[in-house]
Amino acid sequence: KPYVSSPMPPVDIPAVDLPTFFFNRARQNQHSDRKEARPLFVDGTSLNGLSLTLRQMQVLCDQLASGFYHRMCLRPGDVIAVFMPNSIYYSAVVFAALMTGAACTLANPAYTARELAHQLEDSKAMLVITTAELYDTVSQVFDTPETRNNVLVIDSGEAANGLCSIFDILDKQTYPRFYFKDDAESTSTPAFIPYSSGTTGLPKGVVLSHRNIISNILQTEAIQKLSPAMNTERTSVAVLPMFHSFGLLFLCFLMPISAITTVVIPKFELPLFLRLVEEHRATEAMLVPPIIVALAKTFITDQYNLTSLKEVIVGAAPLDQDTITAIELKMPHLKILQGYGLSECSPAISLNPIGDRRTASVGCLLPNIDAMVLDETGRVLGPSESGELCFRGPNNMIGYLNNCKETRLTIDSHGFLHTGDIGYITSEQFVYVTDRKKELIKFNGFQVAPAELEGLLLQHPHVKDCAVIGVYDESRKTEVPRAFLVLKSPDKAEAVVKWLNERVAYYKRLRGGYAIVDAIPKSTSGKILRRMLK
Ligand code: AMP
Repeated sequence: KPYVSSPMPPVDIPAVDLPTFFFNRARQNQHSDRKEARPLFVDGTSLNGLSLTLRQMQVLCDQLASGFYHRMCLRPGDVIAVFMPNSIYYSAVVFAALMTGAACTLANPAYTARELAHQLEDSKAMLVITTAELYDTVSQVFDTPETRNNVLVIDSGEAANGLCSIFDILDKQTYPRFYFKDDAESTSTPAFIPYSSGTTGLPKGVVLSHRNIISNILQTEAIQKLSPAMNTERTSVAVLPMFHSFGLLFLCFLMPISAITTVVIPKFELPLFLRLVEEHRATEAMLVPPIIVALAKTFITDQYNLTSLKEVIVGAAPLDQDTITAIELKMPHLKILQGYGLSECSPAISLNPIGDRRTASVGCLLPNIDAMVLDETGRVLGPSESGELCFRGPNNMIGYLNNCKETRLTIDSHGFLHTGDIGYITSEQFVYVTDRKKELIKFNGFQVAPAELEGLLLQHPHVKDCAVIGVYDESRKTEVPRAFLVLKSPDKAEAVVKWLNERVAYYKRLRGGYAIVDAIPKSTSGKILRRMLK
């Protein structure tokens, strides 16, 4: 066969909806020997230690789903948008929506109104869940009295004064809980619609089914079980954003399902993170490479007792071997486990098992995944030969929302998803990611689509033509966007950059600067020759 399959035994994927699967499995994994249940989520910022146990979460989900149904008229097939920072209620909100048969589109809380508008309009979200602080941004998009009635905040009390909170709509009436009528519905019913630019163009809705997510939970769990048993009372401190597929999988599903308590903070700050690790004796964390770099470099780590921390999973962007060595020398109690994935794959493709890891690798292929590496001409390559990584598995998205063309370009007729990432797979099925051939730029793990910035720049009256590429910033240890500008008057460059930076979320700003050029190199078909710009 022209592809390789995961060396791990396949996992069985039940044909149920995600909330049913989640609550059944989480109940099985609860510590039955304890009189008092450990919370699944703890608010790391509240002095009174606001928290949520599994039982409380289930009651909240039921009452919220009933409120969504009776008060907000949410019905199967509808889409709700979750536009909020991490919160102990994040997963309850998404499960409640799924329990009515709706799907959730998750938006970056750093978005400007323009960026949010694109996602709300494209996904046809009819209800937005946000915070009092972000209400202003939402109300610029949902700007009529009727649409504003479709905005709920998660805060209650003074902060949310005058706004309708999710706690105002809790309802004890019964409601038609959504279940699948047949097995096929588990593969065809959308659960999440995160946004990703894929290999080219603007951010697109990535339609992930209930089955996609359940598969990826079970696939990732299978490799995590290879870890030798750690102490049973495990705690993580949440850093990854829950709106992003990596954070969603680990923080909203895997941690609570495994009865691991997660301490949640709305915004990452290194000292706060370190204090919470010490205070809660956190055993694990999921981080992105720039945070590992910061941890390796900073001396403030010496002020905290971090010895409880045993396992750190890192993904979303490349991490160099030297940094891993440096951090493990500094914190010998800690093991760094790289993982790899993409929104289109729900997201996890590979992860390092703690007992048998290859530090420079992004891990071993998860169960149920077939992989193929292709050269430029589409020829299948052998073990350790470098080319485009392509994967097939039950975690591959249904497709891009209302975009058959891009779906067909991304998933081939054999079901392999072409990632746009360059790398190789060894004969032991460990994956190495070495480069990216797609346009995507990643700043600190966040997606920046060059096409989006180019489209905006072209709207500026002084810009004749432009291109945006990613350049690596050694000091920040991340890619940053850099613009190449063809201008009507070169002295307007600073003004153009400022104009753009004011219109985009902070992580899309042109931190890589700009260059003024006479022309943008293009192919005969008009495609920007990005390699030449690099
Ligand atoms: P996203 O859909 O936002 O999760 O972005 C997915 C992309 O991030 C992948 O296609 C890769 O280009 C990149 N990526 C994710 N994890 C890694 C990793 N461990 N090493 C290198 N690149 C990664």
